[in-house]
This record gives sequence, C-alpha cells and structure tokens, in this order.
Amino acid sequence: MAQEVHGFETEVSKLLNLLAKSLYSNKEVFLRELVSNASDAIDKLRFLSITKPELTADDPIFAIRVKADETVGTLTISDNGVGMTLEEAKAHLGTIAKSGTEEFMKGLSGDEKKDSQLIGQFGVGFYSSFIVADRVTVISRSVNAKPEEAVRWESEGTGTYTCENVTKESRGTDIILHLKEEEKNFLGNWVLRDAITKYSDHISTPVWVWEKDMPVADKKNDDTETIDTYSWKQVNDARALWTIPPKDVTEDQYKAFYKHITHDYDDPLTWTHNRVEGELEYTNLLYIPENAPWDLYTREKQHGLKLFVQRVFIMDDAEQFLPNYLRFVRGLVDTADLPLNVSRELLQESRITQKLCKALTKRTLDMVAKLAKDKEKYTKFWKEFGAVMKEGPVEDYSNREAILKLLRFASTKNDSPIENVSLEAYVERMPEKQTKIYYLTASTYDAAVGSPYLETFKKKGIEVLLMTSRIDEWMMQSIHEFDGMEFVPVTADDLKLGGMADKEEEKKREEKAEESKGLVARIKDALGERVEDVRVTSRLVDSPSCVIAKNDQMMTAQMHRMLEAAGQTVPEDKFVLEINPEHPLIQKAAAETDPTRFKKWSDFILSQAMLADQGALKDPNAFVKLLNELMLH
Ligand code: ADP
Ligand code: MG
Repeated sequence: MAQEVHGFETEVSKLLNLLAKSLYSNKEVFLRELVSNASDAIDKLRFLSITKPELTADDPIFAIRVKADETVGTLTISDNGVGMTLEEAKAHLGTIAKSGTEEFMKGLSGDEKKDSQLIGQFGVGFYSSFIVADRVTVISRSVNAKPEEAVRWESEGTGTYTCENVTKESRGTDIILHLKEEEKNFLGNWVLRDAITKYSDHISTPVWVWEKDMPVADKKNDDTETIDTYSWKQVNDARALWTIPPKDVTEDQYKAFYKHITHDYDDPLTWTHNRVEGELEYTNLLYIPENAPWDLYTREKQHGLKLFVQRVFIMDDAEQFLPNYLRFVRGLVDTADLPLNVSRELLQESRITQKLCKALTKRTLDMVAKLAKDKEKYTKFWKEFGAVMKEGPVEDYSNREAILKLLRFASTKNDSPIENVSLEAYVERMPEKQTKIYYLTASTYDAAVGSPYLETFKKKGIEVLLMTSRIDEWMMQSIHEFDGMEFVPVTADDLKLGGMADKEEEKKREEKAEESKGLVARIKDALGERVEDVRVTSRLVDSPSCVIAKNDQMMTAQMHRMLEAAGQTVPEDKFVLEINPEHPLIQKAAAETDPTRFKKWSDFILSQAMLADQGALKDPNAFVKLLNELMLH
C-alpha cells in the first residue's frame, strides 16, 4: 500500500497549535500520558486474553519499554499491548473521539502548569507528544493482525499525518519521539529515569528503561577507553497499590495513585481503602477530589469507578457501584465475586452488583462523615459537591438519615452565605420549647436575609435555615423531618410555633385583629379577586405587609420561577395578604377616606409584599407609577 496523507480533524489541529504555543512548563507530562496509554493497551489485551489465551501465547509477558537513543535523538516508548490496525490508528490518532477538546480549551486557565495537567483528563493525552517532539512516528501491530499488516503513522504535528502498511514482527506499539533540539535533555539517564519513575509507579505492568550501566573503574589501566554498556532496568514495582495492606501504604503513595488514575493535578481531599472478606469479597479504594470536574453535571458523561475482577482491569466508569448523587467519587473496586467476562449489561442485573453498591455507598457516606469532622476541609467539600449531595435524600431513601446529617445550610445564626450549619447543630442549639426546624427558601442569599418572614423569628431568637440554591426547594419537597422534628417553611400558613407562641402576644394580636376588622374588610373589598384572603399578621414586626401561600401544596416562588424558566405554563398562585396594623404605612392607609385613593393604597400594600416575596412583579411599571402617585399626594 502506498503512503496516504491525511489532514487532521479541525479540533486536533487547533489543539496541536495550542500545545505548540503554550504549555512550556512541566513538559514531562507527555511521559505520563504515553506510559498510561501503553498501560491501557496492555490492560485491554490482558482482558481479551482471558477468553482467548492464544492471543498472547507467543509473547506472554507484558512489558512497557522506554529507550533513549542519543545518537539520533529519539525516545521510544514500546508496549506489547493490543496495538492498532491502520484504520484504528487513523481513527484514534487523527480525530478526537470524545467531545473533550472544546471543554479542554474552555478549561484552560492560562496557568501553564495547570493546563498541561488537563490534557490527560480530556482524552487527548497522545498529542502531548508534540510538546517535546517535532516529529512522532507510531509503529503498531494489532493483536489481530499479521506481521505484514502493521501500520506506520507519522506526523510533525502541523496540519497533516501520513500512514502506510509496514511489517512489524511483534505485536503492540512503538511510539517514537523525535525530540526537539531543546528537549534533548530527556535522553539523559537521570532526567528520564526521574520522570519515568514518577509516572510509572502505579502502573501494574513492569516498566523497563534502557540504561547506561555504571562504569566500572579499571584499576589496571586508567588509559583504556571505557566502553559504555547498557541494560534494561525495571523502574517500578508493578504492584497494584490497592492490593497492599492499607497500613503499608503512605499518604504520598495514595495521593500519587489518585493522580495516576484521575489525571487530576490536585491532591485528593480524602480517601478510604478497605479490604473486605466475608459474604462479599472486595477491595475498594475511593477518593474524594478537591475540585469538582467540569462534567459533573453533564448528563451524557458516565461517572463511575474502575472495576477490576481479581486484579484484572475490566472497565472504566462502572456506574453501577455508587448512586448518582455520589458521582463525584473516584477510585476503584476489585472483587472476586463477579465473573471476569462481566459486561455492563450483566452488571446492571447482577445481585452482587447491588450488594456491592450498597456496601460502597455506606463506605462513601462514612468517609464523608469522617471528613465532616474537619471543618475547613468540609466547607471546601461542601462548596464543590454540596449541590450534588442534596440529591441524596431524594434519591437514596434507605440512607436518608445519614445523608441529612451530612447536609449543610446557611442560617440566620451566621453572618455569611457559607453553608456550614448542620441539622444536628441546629437541633442542638434550639430553645427548649422549639420542636420544629424552620427554613426559608429564596432566590438569593440577600433576598433571604432581608425577608420580612424572618422578623418574628428574629424577635424570638429562633434560628432559621436559609436555602438559596435551586435544588433546595426540590429537596425540601421530599424531606419532611429530621430526628423526629418536622421541617416548617417560615412562609407557611400556619407557623406551628407551638410552645414558643407567646400567650400575651397572641391575645394582643387577637385584640388588634378585632380592632382592625373594618380595615381588613375594606382592603379585601378593594383587592377583590386578587387575593385569597386578608388578615392581621402574627409574624411581622418591621414590615407593613407580606403574602403567604395558602396551603402547603402551593408552589413557592422559587419553584414557580424554575418551572417558568423551563418553559411551563404555571397557574397564577393566589396569596393571603397579611397586614401589620401597627405599621405607620398601614395606619396611613387606614386613615384614607377617599375610595379611589384607598384602592391605590391597598394595591400598594399588596404589590410591595409581592415584590418582597417574589423578587419581581408582573407589571413593574404600574407599580412605579402607583408609588410615585402616592408619594406626591
Ligand atoms: P485516551 O487515552 O484518553 O483515549 P489518548 O489521546 O491518550 O486518549 O489516546 C487516544 C487513543 O489512541 C487511545 O484511546 C487508544 O485507542 C489509542 N492509543 C494510544 N496509544 C496507544 C497504544 N500505545 N496502543 C494502542 N492504542 C493506543
Ligand atoms: Mg491516554
């Protein structure tokens, strides 16, 4: 076959351009990516050979080899893994399978060190070769191909690549990097060994480096020319970290292993490593990252653990082992209870999977609970993953109580929007007579703290949880109590203040209600159909009025907005208007005798309460006009 010349997919060209221009620091990441690709290729073949041992019969010992050739200035990374056919080389090295590049580009921070680390996470690791090489040659033979069906792929990392059929005696892949002049230092014994050791520590296949032997001093004759000799040296211990007893693994090893499996730049926040024998037999190593990945909310993205069966790598992103709300957890599970040929479909149906999922969920929740003891770390965790954790009480009924304990909220007892109050802390410090947990949902933190609904709670010194994220409202619809205590929104029709309601106050209110009967009737008359009812408030202190949703089924403002934003037609809610007869504005309105002007006052009292509650009005212009009119007369 003649040599073919192909243009790279546009995305690849863009990426290559970017790699050439930036990412100067921390260039050695290319080694990590290429060693990791070699290791992936070997894992794939190891897996295939379970059912077809003949595939590896002629060359049964897996190995990754790295060889520098100073005379021609090349660095070669070889593996005896699955290899690629010509078509596969075109598909995998000429296009980007995952739609990651665009996100990758968006994710670039300008901080070169960080950016270079991003490469691996976005499935574009191979192209990092061009950070140090001005020409890359790939010679590969698929495990399913004959020697003469091997492929030679080559590119200078500009717009095109070539490929052709060649002959290769052994299966697997050689990646030959023709190093740029200024990157030749990677050919030196020590630089190479250093970098390669760092990145191959957690590869479970032996990595060998072709190294110059230490010269042996010749005592007899100092003038003889020393002849360099070379030999293969293994630089990693090729032991799967999770199979080592936890007590023998150092923190640094755990961190390095995390970076190896996730390609994350930062250390993990915490981890849990357990080996379990009994009804189920498994080992898990689960990590919580420090930062949320960019695709945490991407629905198409599969989030999951690496699955090993008896140390053989089976698949990435096995979603079946953790519930969706724990999708930020990274790591692996290795079990002896599943068959080696398990497929995603089989996993889905397997009872073993369900049992493992239950066990791993528990492990994860325990890990999070432990993390919660470290306030600083937990605040960080909550900022990154709190919104996802809030899916928990809805999704996972069986662990609801445990999850509720892990939730954190903003509160009227704090002067900041940081969510760091637990339900346990709330319950622990509530006044003796309080038997409910009060909360307020609003669209922003500022709207929440300024809400008139809080007035009476402030006066009585009752703490109110402030919930301002979109998911809060949704979550609160499905949780009803914690530790036997009911959740009550401060906007509720009946506040159920119970023992905290002040008898004196109650009496005063009733008297006031009696006194204001006439006024209430006039306002009701003036507003007509626009309100469900009008009554004297028991919750306002400084505000003239507020609106209350009539029953618990009624949508709260935020839910209303969410549905509207989602393009649904939402029926108009009707509210009960509560007035505070002690407020000078209400008194001013009461003194108005002209019916037309009284109508305007009533409108104003309702509208400003609606504005405070909803954060917006249907007709803001009319309201401004009304306000201006009332101010001028
Ligand atoms: P990723 O590893 O995330 O898939 P890469 O850019 O590192 O992305 O590699 C792209 C693809 O090229 C791999 O998925 C694989 O199919 C193929 N590939 C790269 N290196 C090798 C190799 N040494 N042996 C076999 N296939 C390889
Ligand atoms: Mg890769």
